[in-house]
Amino acid sequence: MLHSSYIEISKSALQNNINFLKQEIGPHVKLSSVIKGNAYGHGIEQFAKLAQECGVDHFSVFSADEAQRLLSAITRPATILIMGYLDNAELEWAIEQELEFFVFEPDRLREAAKAAKTVGKKAIIHLELETGMNRTGFESHTLRIAKSLLEECRDHVRLKGICTHFAGAESMQNHKRVTEQINLFNEQVEALKLEGIQAEQLHTACSAAMMTYPESRFDMVRIGIMQYGFWPSPETYSSYLGKLQRKQDPLRRLINWKSHIMSLKHVNAGDYVGYGTSFQAPRQMVMAIIPVGYAWGYSRSLSNQGQVLVRGQRAGVVGIVNMNVLTVDVTNIEGVQKGDEVVLLGIQENESISVASFAELSTQLNYELLTRLPMNIPRMIIS
Ligand SMILES: *Cc1c(COP(=O)(O)O)cnc(C)c1O
Repeated sequence: MLHSSYIEISKSALQNNINFLKQEIGPHVKLSSVIKGNAYGHGIEQFAKLAQECGVDHFSVFSADEAQRLLSAITRPATILIMGYLDNAELEWAIEQELEFFVFEPDRLREAAKAAKTVGKKAIIHLELETGMNRTGFESHTLRIAKSLLEECRDHVRLKGICTHFAGAESMQNHKRVTEQINLFNEQVEALKLEGIQAEQLHTACSAAMMTYPESRFDMVRIGIMQYGFWPSPETYSSYLGKLQRKQDPLRRLINWKSHIMSLKHVNAGDYVGYGTSFQAPRQMVMAIIPVGYAWGYSRSLSNQGQVLVRGQRAGVVGIVNMNVLTVDVTNIEGVQKGDEVVLLGIQENESISVASFAELSTQLNYELLTRLPMNIPRMIIS
């Protein structure tokens, strides 16, 4: 089946990024590869296999369905941690599969112990603490309940981790709040320890925290965006570069989103192109029709704004992005032909379209843009 576009995932780029991250955290901190959001748009199945080949053996997902997809894709045993959604009905399955999961309220802890008893295996849990994000996590005043529950359920629950998540470590604007979160986490861990509650590992850091707050690394870091070759924010990137002699990005992007020219069209000066009147040709022009539109995540807000690469040169989007096609101006691209490769995102010869530039124009974050790449675009591994 030929698709109108496809996404290439580069193995050497991933290996490069994993090497960089491991070097950054050193041998005593574990790396968990965060693959929620369809592996940030890269495709859970394809990405996980590749990550294992690059030496990853710990994955964090958001939900049970992602864990299920991961389980069926991997070729070697791995530790799988569910950080978010897990229905009570799925608890027994998760425990049976020895999946690890966040426990963020007393009720979940009770249910986990109950399910573990039925299954006859211990639930492997990570106690999530509320330290200031105000999303999920045991609040200080519920820690006493956690403690007595943990004691009560000792035979059915293994406390593998204690963890928390930061409310925006990628921006210095949140510096005070994040620092307070780290302090509160340390205090609560200490308090639990005094009460005899101790976990095998502590973990709090996402990509930005790992880079900006080394004291947040503890025993494990949960890394999403950076393994895919993107920085959590321009701020995190420039503060890292500031410390370097040789100002060069150590990360490489894995993703290239490609299509090809479906048809060429010559238009005369004064002609309108596409729906409505948003673009009128100022001169004789050559347009290339590309079989990708907003149905595949190429945002309509890139109408008359986005750029793609053809024969190593930039070509601007002309007119409105349609559901299934977009039109670009290739008037000045010599030798352009029907069937030519088109790069929507990524590198071609010496030019590149970065997600950041793409995202800025369409007012989406790197994170959002990547994860919105539809699942039904085929992903292909390249070296
Ligand atoms: C998404 C997520 C991460 C990874 O964040 P990145 O910024 O992509 O590194 C870590 N921990 C939790 C709880 C998350 O939800």
